Amino acid sequence: MCGIVGYLGQREAYPIVIKGLERLEYRGYDSAGIVLYDGEKAKLCKTKGKVTDLKGKAESENITTGSIGLGHTRWATHGEPNDVNAHPHLSNSGNLAIIHNGIIENYGSIKKELEKRGYTFHSDTDTEVLVNLIEDIKEKEQVKLGKAVQIALNQVVGAYAIAVFDKSKPDEIVVAKLGSPLAIGVGEGEFFIASDASPFIEYTNNAIYLEDEQMAIVRLGRDVKVRQIKDDKSVAAYVQELQLNLDQIEKNGYDHFMLKEIHEQPHAIKDTYRGRLRTNEGIIKMAGIEDNLEKFLNANRIIIVACGTSWHAGLVAEYIFEDLVRIPVEVEYASEFRYRNPVITSKDVVIAISQSGETADTLAAIKLAKQNGAFVFGVCNVVGSSIARESHAGAYTHAGPEIGVASTKAFTTQITLLSLIALKLAQSKGMISKTEFHQYLAEMEAIPDKVEKVLLSDDHVKYISSVYKDVPNFLYLGRGYNFPVALEGALKLKEISYIHAEGYPAAEMKHGPIALIDEQMPVVVIATKKGHYEKVVSNIQEIKSRKGKIIGIVTEGDKEVKSMADYVIEVPETIEGLTPLLTTIPLQLLSYHIAVMRNCNVDQPRNLAKSVTVE
Ligand code: GLU
Repeated sequence: MCGIVGYLGQREAYPIVIKGLERLEYRGYDSAGIVLYDGEKAKLCKTKGKVTDLKGKAESENITTGSIGLGHTRWATHGEPNDVNAHPHLSNSGNLAIIHNGIIENYGSIKKELEKRGYTFHSDTDTEVLVNLIEDIKEKEQVKLGKAVQIALNQVVGAYAIAVFDKSKPDEIVVAKLGSPLAIGVGEGEFFIASDASPFIEYTNNAIYLEDEQMAIVRLGRDVKVRQIKDDKSVAAYVQELQLNLDQIEKNGYDHFMLKEIHEQPHAIKDTYRGRLRTNEGIIKMAGIEDNLEKFLNANRIIIVACGTSWHAGLVAEYIFEDLVRIPVEVEYASEFRYRNPVITSKDVVIAISQSGETADTLAAIKLAKQNGAFVFGVCNVVGSSIARESHAGAYTHAGPEIGVASTKAFTTQITLLSLIALKLAQSKGMISKTEFHQYLAEMEAIPDKVEKVLLSDDHVKYISSVYKDVPNFLYLGRGYNFPVALEGALKLKEISYIHAEGYPAAEMKHGPIALIDEQMPVVVIATKKGHYEKVVSNIQEIKSRKGKIIGIVTEGDKEVKSMADYVIEVPETIEGLTPLLTTIPLQLLSYHIAVMRNCNVDQPRNLAKSVTVE
């Protein structure tokens, strides 16, 4: 995920593009770049870092003039964040410039083909491959830019929002979209391109939002021409009038980034398994695991190190690894692990989990593990982060930037990724039958739609939140795979609403927390059909007999818990190992609504920082 901005008109593009990038910086911020054409030269300026860094560099190099321009803030997926990998990318001839948001999955094979045809590449990005593919087609087929883009996009697999121009035809920008957002602002004799309308809202209220699989030719003096990428058929361009303010647009109409990120989960989970989960071929493709398969298969045990929400994802992974791969797993708080003289050997595989990839304690745990000869595999969201660099190998969650301090999509995408790893190892080790493996793959693919379905319960959860928003304490209970979900639910509530909450394994309740239960105490019980259902039902009865209030997270159609609980929130049925991906969602919504109702600062809760880079 990243921010793209373009301008085509009579004004200077530079200030418009830079301001637009600043507005979109929330979408990605590891590097930034701009290309401007002033009638003579296409001038490029790119830098690692933020838009302010870009501004400083562009102004010191005098790259500020031209009435056609493209700008980009990057959220790296292919190639570490540095000056060279930053966008825009130019084609080999220097004629075409591109900005791209998304992933070209089959860039490797296209790159090989282009190299055979004499193309050279300066960056590690998938995007540079795409711009050269477009150039190659344009030259080979002797077609216009729009046609070349259309043919090229029919050859790529992946997701994109792109904008391209040809400096020999500087009155035109070609844009296209699949999976990533793209809006065209239509002004008087000028056009704006952006990931959302925030960069151009003060210049025009008229915008065209491209649909997936659509492209558009934006040319000065002409109406925007929209076409279908697949068959090149033209589509009527629908110009809509915007009635939004800036703040709303950046949050995509959501009141808070946290809520936006909760709702992004179906998409984020898909982005995590995109290109890896190959249901048709019956395989999971993960280079980081394949290249180090022996390490994993010969390991005596897996040690997972993490902090906070990532530690909870690690606990879910413990269940799934032990279940599917039959390998002992230990899940450690990185901060404890690093200081307690742990026994680590070269037969251990350490998996380090961190959204930001900068968590100080996890980083220190990795260093310790490496000193003791263990193999370290990093699971991070931020490409090129310290943990990604320190690990021997790893995999990214590709969840896109998470802005809300309380982690939501980072958690579900970590579980998705860890489940893929477990499944891949189980298959490689011959621990899972073909049928069960295929069931898992199919079910994993169905998860985003199921998450979408759970999100429909938002109003119902909001109502439940209004009932309990003023209580001083909450208890969360779950068993098996859903015990870590109970911990995560409690953490979410504490973090953003400042209500004291505890997560417990349901049966442990009898060893202490049951003393707290009275008629004031809401207890969130995860009681899905698969996974110790009868036992959890008994736990619910124990709470009821002490007059506690029950909020049950149940499988669709459940009657038993419904008859006992004060409120239930239903989630669709799935394989037990994947239930955390669904049961987590209502708990995120519950904490969100309660925090909002208590007037708390949801996106920036007191005393907390998004990434904990100090120990
Ligand atoms: N895949 C491209 C890259 O790594 C674009 C990433 C983005 O959306 O910022 O450079």
